[in-house]
Amino acid sequence: MGRIAYVNGRFVPHAQATVHIEDRGYQLADGVYEVVGVRDGKLIDEVPHIDRLDRSLRELRIAWPVSRPTLGFIVRELMRRNRLRDGLVYMQVTRGVARRDHAFPSPAPAPSVVVTARPLNKARNEALANSGIAVMSVPDNRWGRVDIKTVGLLPNVLARQAAIDQGARDAWFVDQAGTVTEASSANAWIVTADGILVTRRADHAILRGITRTVVFDEVKGQGLAIEERAFTLAEAYAAREAFITSASQIVLPVVRIDGRSIGDGKPGPVATALRREFYRYAEAG
Ligand code: PLP
Repeated sequence: MGRIAYVNGRFVPHAQATVHIEDRGYQLADGVYEVVGVRDGKLIDEVPHIDRLDRSLRELRIAWPVSRPTLGFIVRELMRRNRLRDGLVYMQVTRGVARRDHAFPSPAPAPSVVVTARPLNKARNEALANSGIAVMSVPDNRWGRVDIKTVGLLPNVLARQAAIDQGARDAWFVDQAGTVTEASSANAWIVTADGILVTRRADHAILRGITRTVVFDEVKGQGLAIEERAFTLAEAYAAREAFITSASQIVLPVVRIDGRSIGDGKPGPVATALRREFYRYAEAG
């Protein structure tokens, strides 16, 4: 059975799933997206992801392409058709197809909607979590509204590639004040030498990760000390642990930043426990 995608009202073989050349997502990055994890056939945090999609659409003044219940149906049908047990559902909505012009087209075209599903390699991801990853810091040169989950990801693409070119796995963006904002596709956390968890406040400088919120609640529930504030790169170098959170990577330990070992250079107990706890939470539904 081949992969199936959903494009503007139709389920089609993935290889034949296409959008128009004047789709504004393609020409102008005028669109938004969401990535939702699937574990044991269940969507993880569907409601907050769809709430965030709604917020992103409202921020860009793009209409919902279908009703919210219809999108829920499409996602489930796509999972069924792809027999997805463990993986990711990607959904993208753009302002639609129109003659190329920067201003919003008038009248507004129908927004384009694409939904895809793909399996995750659980064994490979666990191996990565067991070894931890290296990250490189890069200047945060993104626009001022990265709290909106738009498909305009070129700085993130270049940051990730710069990290890979230097032998690391991901990049951590650092703002002009020298504080870490987030990773190229995840939120950034540290555990200080005193055992305090620190992650940046969710303002316009980062995407408010759904995984970040769940982990935040887990941490509070366990009575661990947590500070929601910016932290410097120097603090990160001196941290006992570091990790990133996202729907696709869950909680992933960071063991090296800019070539310096974090803590003892191995995944730490806090990140490891939070990852385990997240799986329990996801499997409970
Ligand atoms: N920050 C950025 C820039 C991201 O692209 C992502 C996810 O793609 C996140 C943070 C984490 O968000 P979530 O936990 O909702 O996946």
